[in-house]
Amino acid sequence: MLLTGKDIVAPAYARGFAVASYNISDYGMLMAVLAASEAAQSPVILLIHPDDWEFVGDQFLASVFAAAASSSVPVAIQLDHGATVEQAAAALRHQFTSVMIDGSLLPFDQNMAITREVVEMAHRIGVSVEGEIGTIGPRDPRSLEEMQDFVFADPEQAKEFVETTGVDLLAVAVGTAHGVYPAGFVPELKLDLIARINDAIGIPLVLHGGSGAVDEQVSQAVKLGIAKVNISADMKTAYFTKLREVLTDPAQREPLDIYPPALAVVQDVVRHKAEVLGSVGGAAHYDYRPAGIGERRWTEGAATVQH
Ligand SMILES: [Zn+2]
Repeated sequence: MLLTGKDIVAPAYARGFAVASYNISDYGMLMAVLAASEAAQSPVILLIHPDDWEFVGDQFLASVFAAAASSSVPVAIQLDHGATVEQAAAALRHQFTSVMIDGSLLPFDQNMAITREVVEMAHRIGVSVEGEIGTIGPRDPRSLEEMQDFVFADPEQAKEFVETTGVDLLAVAVGTAHGVYPAGFVPELKLDLIARINDAIGIPLVLHGGSGAVDEQVSQAVKLGIAKVNISADMKTAYFTKLREVLTDPAQREPLDIYPPALAVVQDVVRHKAEVLGSVGGAAHYDYRPAGIGERRWTEGAATVQH
């Protein structure tokens, strides 16, 4: 069943677990992420990045919404890293249940302005918004030197940002980066900084660049206020590494033979992440009352989105 980003993250934030969020850009990822989330009874967020959206097209979104709506676990569908008000508006028109506006590369005042504009637009129709402060960086490749230039989120700025913009979720730069890390770099999560930001703002925090981070650190970060963790590279690397392995056999040509081993590996990743984030069984904390087709409702605390 579909929930807004705010409503799917709220029980996690209150209970000290985090909702895994996966960048989806093909049908196999969609089905494997949902199947593993259902098996673990974990809520999950499906992320559609603007670049991926352009690649997969609007028709693919119909599959995402259909699969999410019939899922036995809470699901939200979020625009990942919207760069402009127009991209956020397009996501709202397509009935995404959460949007991210990422103005983190803009000057702070402009980041606040663009985020506030998206919040005003999205909240009018009950959709939640994620903003971002600090530098989590572009996609790989990066050098070790580039990693030194990262700007961490600041608790005072975070407070001003949340009060000014009204965002529901805040992505913070606290030591991780997007994509695959340069060889020899081990990310170090700033746990004390996460705790200070959480104390300052009191809304759920989001960790981007969840791939490649040390599991124990991520689990600790979740206890300190991280309630949504974005995962892309770890899932895709497992998926395509397995596909390459299967395809070394030149006799392979049937998708129904080629894909299942790779999708099984994706499910292993999703299960592992659910354990790290403490979300196994987390679906039980959403007050869901099954009803007849077309009448499903989340009975409490949820701005139900019907499709
Ligand atoms: Zn991100």
